[in-house]
Amino acid sequence: MVQDLINFLSDSPVSFLAVDTVARRLQSCGFVELDAACPLGEMPSGKRFYVRKNDSSIYAFRIGGKPLSEAGVHMVCAHSDSPTFRIKPNAEMRDASGLTRLNTEVYGGPILSTWFDRPLSVAGRVILRSDNPMQPSNRLLHVRRPLMQISNLAIHFNRAVNDGVKLSRQHDMLPLLGLADGNEAGRMLCDVICSELGCRRDEILDFDLYLYDTTPACTFGVHDEFISAGRLDDLSMVHAGCTALTQACDTMTDATQCLAVFDNEETGSQTKQGAGSPFLASLLRRMVEWQGGGEEGFHTCVERSFMVSADNAHAWHPNYPDKYDPTNKPILGGGPAIKFNASQKYASDAVSAAVFASICRAASVPCQKFVNHSDVAGGSTLGNILTSSLPMRGVDMGNPILGMHSARETGSTADHEYCIRAFRQFYVQD
Ligand code: ZN
Repeated sequence: MVQDLINFLSDSPVSFLAVDTVARRLQSCGFVELDAACPLGEMPSGKRFYVRKNDSSIYAFRIGGKPLSEAGVHMVCAHSDSPTFRIKPNAEMRDASGLTRLNTEVYGGPILSTWFDRPLSVAGRVILRSDNPMQPSNRLLHVRRPLMQISNLAIHFNRAVNDGVKLSRQHDMLPLLGLADGNEAGRMLCDVICSELGCRRDEILDFDLYLYDTTPACTFGVHDEFISAGRLDDLSMVHAGCTALTQACDTMTDATQCLAVFDNEETGSQTKQGAGSPFLASLLRRMVEWQGGGEEGFHTCVERSFMVSADNAHAWHPNYPDKYDPTNKPILGGGPAIKFNASQKYASDAVSAAVFASICRAASVPCQKFVNHSDVAGGSTLGNILTSSLPMRGVDMGNPILGMHSARETGSTADHEYCIRAFRQFYVQD
């Protein structure tokens, strides 16, 4: 399973590719793609389908043995995006020598210094001209070879570099793309896109392209007990949810099984493809409608559903003990962590946490609890945002990791297996 996660991560450098990877895995288990712009059609028990939104979020369903209005949905949620750098329009910055950098802006909250001195490349989607201006052609781009690097300033120019350095997102973080001759000026990136996609320069209308670290994920530790990878937050949870669903979908249960992978969690979720969107609620409403349940059926569906909002938690870091809550500090290898917050930044409450802990127990999976140190603000996640449109019972949880939002995060291989087992149990539980 850990090798499968590593493969999954290398196929999924950004949200668009992660969603494509999930879609291909679902297809191989009999899930068919439906277009939200068309009627969804009948919803008989056993039906397997998925819907994409904006190419960067995906919603998969296996219809249960009972109508949604009677048995609800068992839903695992996660997010497809991770902190990175987005390439700006007109991005090439060429100096007199031909050295060409790319102008970028920061996406989400990366630990900036961890992006220095790594071989980077680009991935995302490119929009090409078509006959219909309202329907241009969307193509995924994943350049696998290293294309650029953000280089550090030599220590000889900044002797205080190891004392902590304030970094400018505009000045310090621009990657070096190449050495352009006169003919290439202003079109180096375009030429790469053309050769990757087999298109002409005048066909490219626009793009959503991001940087990613090309260094592959790996395991480490004397017993290979850790995993070192970019984007564990939150693609490890996406992988666990997708794997559990494809393992559980053959077991017929009363409840409908659902995996929802949202985009833009790292920027607040308030997009049409984010957890703040009414899109998932409207999908459920339409499904209930096709089953003859109407508006009343939608509301009974929500009341009978349960959501596991899966987003990584902070593992205990032995170098920084004073940052952690004195009595709740999840350890690597100790199993998934349920997250609590008195201000309700997390959806968990005693009831939903008890349900999830019982699911873990049924799957013989250990589980832990995470609460912030009371003087540390902590982050936010999907669960409480989603419950504003779908007020269902739910828990916020995630596998503990170190170095969250570093270009390279550290997780536990055992926890990954635990998480898949817990999700599978949740999906088959009636
Ligand atoms: Zn996350």
